[in-house]
Amino acid sequence: MVDVLVIGGGNAALCAALMAREAGASVMVLEAAPKEWRGGNSSHTRNIRAMHDEPQDVMLESYHEEEYWQDVVKVTSGITDEKLARLVIRSSANCRGWMTHHGVRFQAPLSGTLNLSRTNAFFMGGGKALINAYYRSAEKLGIEIRYESPASSIEIRNGEFVAAYVGDERIEAKACVLAAGGFESNREWLKEAWGMNQYGEYPADNFLIRGSRYNEGVLLKQLIAMGADSVSDATQAHMVAVDARAPLYDGGICTRIDGVPFGIVVNKHAQRFSDEGEDFWPKRYAFWGRLVAHQPGQIGYCIIDSKVLGRFMPPVFPGEKADSLDEMATKLGLDSKALQETVKAYNAACRVGNFNHTILDDCHTEGIEPEKTHWALPIDTGPFYGYAVRPGVTFTYLGLKTDDTAAVRFNNEASKNLFVAGEMMAGNVLGKGYAAGIGMTIGTVFGRIAGTQAAQAAKQYGVELAHAAA
Ligand SMILES: Cc1cc2nc3c(=O)[nH]c(=O)nc-3n(C[C@H](O)[C@H](O)[C@H](O)COP(=O)(O)OP(=O)(O)OC[C@H]3O[C@@H](n4cnc5c(N)ncnc54)[C@H](O)[C@@H]3O)c2cc1C
Repeated sequence: MVDVLVIGGGNAALCAALMAREAGASVMVLEAAPKEWRGGNSSHTRNIRAMHDEPQDVMLESYHEEEYWQDVVKVTSGITDEKLARLVIRSSANCRGWMTHHGVRFQAPLSGTLNLSRTNAFFMGGGKALINAYYRSAEKLGIEIRYESPASSIEIRNGEFVAAYVGDERIEAKACVLAAGGFESNREWLKEAWGMNQYGEYPADNFLIRGSRYNEGVLLKQLIAMGADSVSDATQAHMVAVDARAPLYDGGICTRIDGVPFGIVVNKHAQRFSDEGEDFWPKRYAFWGRLVAHQPGQIGYCIIDSKVLGRFMPPVFPGEKADSLDEMATKLGLDSKALQETVKAYNAACRVGNFNHTILDDCHTEGIEPEKTHWALPIDTGPFYGYAVRPGVTFTYLGLKTDDTAAVRFNNEASKNLFVAGEMMAGNVLGKGYAAGIGMTIGTVFGRIAGTQAAQAAKQYGVELAHAAA
């Protein structure tokens, strides 16, 4: 029997597998995806948010625990477990050495990367290279990896893991780490969670999934049904406004529309509906998918003018370009009069000070709802650019409740040999909202804890068997 079974094949799973192996356990990884699609959402990532008290290789200046914590409080509106959040933050200071040891390389950020050069370390070659490095290391260490092996259910006895099933095959292990992602690619579950809106629509029908198609939440659903303690709710998720032309799955980062703070966003009635300049984009971009999800038809239109071109990372596909707002309305399928009135009212409300997109500047609106609190410049210089956006789900927050040992809990009691990491428990830290790069921090920190604890639990299993036999 294998010591530790890791279910999932992304960052959290690999961190757990490597740590368990380093602690002396035999390890098997079950990855639902085929080899060429291995790595889940982690293979789409670019960076990790990491605390540091002084400049470190690619990380500039400092990013202390308290500032990181305040960022978490702000984006989650305080819906977070402080103990676990601080554990994640503190551990982020010392995980990069271990990552490098397993082949991950870091690079200085390119420009236009959401102003993250101080707070986040970028992976050279992106998440795909990170994932490949971890798999290489896992193979070298003798970890058994099974691709195209989705676990369909697990067997639990008195809160303890006994076995997992892949189809008809029953795989026993002394301990198990669940790191199989959220349920973002389970469209029926999303539909059920979001229900019908006031317009008689099922919003989730119009969601796009930014990452892996393999994160269907099969085990998450089963465990919650079995009485495992859970956190957050099924509608909470990291949701970005993405190019409406993006594919249903795996569009990745190149479909993100980062022009929002530099212009306005209107709904299908050409009305603005939220403050486009509320805060720095890294702290707001993950809300915009949700804001669009609440609009009729689940569609929005980001409109900018020529003045702001070059100030943000351009989307990979060009948007609509028009010399007049009338032409733009036609191209986007919006009512021309309504759009022109919206822009006119917005322009008249702009109080332009010293525009500076690197700080929370003083360019704002007055006397208009919703207000735009920073970077408010009139949209008056053609050509104009417009992008239709849809809600893009990155990952869901409904997860398994855990503690600082990463144990799955049943009736508030920690399982002895079942642990959880990554998106499957990120909701403990992220009740809502998101700070760019923290997904990989949570997965790395809890993956490492879960792997260590699982190896420990497997050893204990042996001791208990010996006692029972004596
Ligand atoms: C486009 C995009 C960009 C992102 N950029 C960043 C970034 O730069 N920084 C950051 O911190 N976060 C980023 N994120 C979020 C980040 O990807 C996640 O927070 C993180 O990868 C979660 O890791 P994980 O291991 O929990 O899940 P995943 O990496 O999604 O791994 C889940 C794994 O479980 C497997 N699986 C699912 N079900 C089963 C099953 N039943 N049996 C076996 N295996 C199963 C999947 O195939 C997959 O391998 C991004 C996400 C996306 C989609």
